[in-house]
Amino acid sequence: MQIVSTTESSSPADAPEDGSVQAVYPPSPEFVAQANAGPELYEHADADRLKFWATQARRLDWDTDFDQVLDWPDAPFAKWFVGGKLNVAANCVDRHVAAGKGDRVAIHWVGEPGDSRDITYSQLLDEVSRAANYFTSIGLEAGDRVAIYMPMVPEAIVTMLSCARLGLTHSVVFAGFSATALRSRVDDAQAKLVVTTDGQFRREKPAPLKAAVDEALGTGDDAAESVEHVLVVRRTNHDPDMNWVEGRDVWWDDTVAESSPKHEYEAFDSEHPLFLLYTSGTTGKPKGIVHTSGGYLTQTSYTFHYVFDHKEGRDVFWCGADIGWVTGHSYLVYGPLSNGATEIIYEGTPNSPNEHRHFEVIEKYGVTTYYIAPTLIRTFMKWGRTIPDSHDLSSLRLLGSVGEPINPEAWRWYRDVIGHNRCPIVDTWWQTETGSAMISPLPGVTATKPGSAMAPLPGISANIVDDDGNKVAPGEQGYLVLDQPWPSMLRGIWGDDERFKDTYWSRFAEQGWYFAGDGARYDEDGALWVLGRIDDVMNVSGHRISTAEVESALVGHHAVAEAAVIGATDATTGQGIVAFVILREGIDTDHETLISEMKSHVSVDISPIAKPREINIVPELPKTRSGKIMRRLLRDVAEGNELGDTSTLVDPTVFEAIRSQRS
Ligand code: ATP
Ligand code: MG
Repeated sequence: MQIVSTTESSSPADAPEDGSVQAVYPPSPEFVAQANAGPELYEHADADRLKFWATQARRLDWDTDFDQVLDWPDAPFAKWFVGGKLNVAANCVDRHVAAGKGDRVAIHWVGEPGDSRDITYSQLLDEVSRAANYFTSIGLEAGDRVAIYMPMVPEAIVTMLSCARLGLTHSVVFAGFSATALRSRVDDAQAKLVVTTDGQFRREKPAPLKAAVDEALGTGDDAAESVEHVLVVRRTNHDPDMNWVEGRDVWWDDTVAESSPKHEYEAFDSEHPLFLLYTSGTTGKPKGIVHTSGGYLTQTSYTFHYVFDHKEGRDVFWCGADIGWVTGHSYLVYGPLSNGATEIIYEGTPNSPNEHRHFEVIEKYGVTTYYIAPTLIRTFMKWGRTIPDSHDLSSLRLLGSVGEPINPEAWRWYRDVIGHNRCPIVDTWWQTETGSAMISPLPGVTATKPGSAMAPLPGISANIVDDDGNKVAPGEQGYLVLDQPWPSMLRGIWGDDERFKDTYWSRFAEQGWYFAGDGARYDEDGALWVLGRIDDVMNVSGHRISTAEVESALVGHHAVAEAAVIGATDATTGQGIVAFVILREGIDTDHETLISEMKSHVSVDISPIAKPREINIVPELPKTRSGKIMRRLLRDVAEGNELGDTSTLVDPTVFEAIRSQRS
């Protein structure tokens, strides 16, 4: 596609005078002048993709150089940077210290109750070395698995890096998950060590966490047999009933903290497994996605530099994801730290103690680059602009979005209210499986459109195809596929090669393409729009309509803060569109009037075919702990079925409220 590079201004003065909304946002000349990326990146990648990736791999320090960029005859099992050896942790920490940047702050950690710590690269090196020495002392060896079940405390990142340093494969399990979820992941990976905290802060109150580990690991005949040790970081100091298993459980303070801060690292093969991460389970049983070292670090490092236009020593980066998700792995740990970045790690929720928290952090630390999910942007919209407006957000210079399609209304609000119409927005499409950002604008190069992830990044090749694998025409929906391997691609599903081939490579087996499971379309200008999971495409009287588009239209109505749309079985139309909406603060029009307004709004905005059969105004939407709407459960509600598996929901009680609104 054509990537528009232009020096036109994109100030608010550019907005169309007829009152219609601006459709394209070219980069400002000021941003272009200082951008890391230029149009030549695409040219280099197009001219010789493997050479391009070899150049990106040279961003890292290799102890032994690689002699082949890609090995793909055994597809879909890829090997990148074959023959190369490196240490991932040394690339994220040691080399910055060696280059004289040891005093630079790596992590501004902001605790939930108001405590904070600044950790320099030198201090990080000490901590990582201590943990590595302790892990070695308890007999852990390269290839062993370590489960990490921790809130957002610095020790979680120290643990991840220490694992990387020793060639241990970490498996981070989100600390909001249940004991059952932890146990199934510990068993699947046969983890030898579990690292946790005594407790975690939830809305200013300490809640036990180790208790869930005890429950997960069981006792006697039911005990998780792989686990030898549980390492406990003291965080809340507030669980008087805490259980302690002698011989198994140890305090971080008594062990890691007492270990030597000197550790010699060893280099590992480029394909050495770095981590397992179980997908969030929006669609089914979580899969243990396997990522390896050289290729993963190359692409996270490369994308961090260009997509976030990172300026070493100047920027303060903040990714709002939890380390329990892939975004936390790639853009809280490996991407930023391999680039020597200074970043924020925030422990709590955006509204503890109140809705000002994120903006206070931005103001206090001078955050320049802010990367969050659309669900949070829509939450901010719901809270209203007076909150961000009461803070100085002038340090911000780039905004990012990830996790779901971002509806144009939320995109514009983000750009206007948070970014003051100055900051480019990068809407980054990627997955746990892809390891790093894949489809995204390049700031300073791409003229962006609200709601579109625009184009594959240089070095990445994607396509949108129909059932037979033919490229779809502009405007038509198709399947998003990745038709060339990429360095940070998943190397498999832990212990299940068949499921790996089946899930991702069987749909377009003949062509050898990766099937992402998402629907997408091109617009007339060739920009790429991701429409969400193909399971989320409805069929109404033979018309294929994406839930994301109807949701976008609904959020475009002034009263709506957030919307979830599903296709419920309908005797006459096949599927009927059922919507669940949350209102913005301070809307007091009666619901009947609002609902009829919303219906005609969708009808005008998309087409009468897309008009919802039913709209329910509800107080909350069911979400996974990563903030994604669980549409399959809403479908159960709309169809009057028993609810399916609710184990990954944040708050299963939302259904009582939703059901009572419908009756
Ligand atoms: P599971 O695969 O277990 O059902 P999941 O797909 O939600 O869970 P993730 O890997 O965290 O787990 O999310 C990747 C998915 O999120 C993508 O496939 C896509 O549907 C959606 N997504 C992520 N970023 C974007 C984006 N910028 N635009 C549109 N969709 C996005
Ligand atoms: Mg997925």
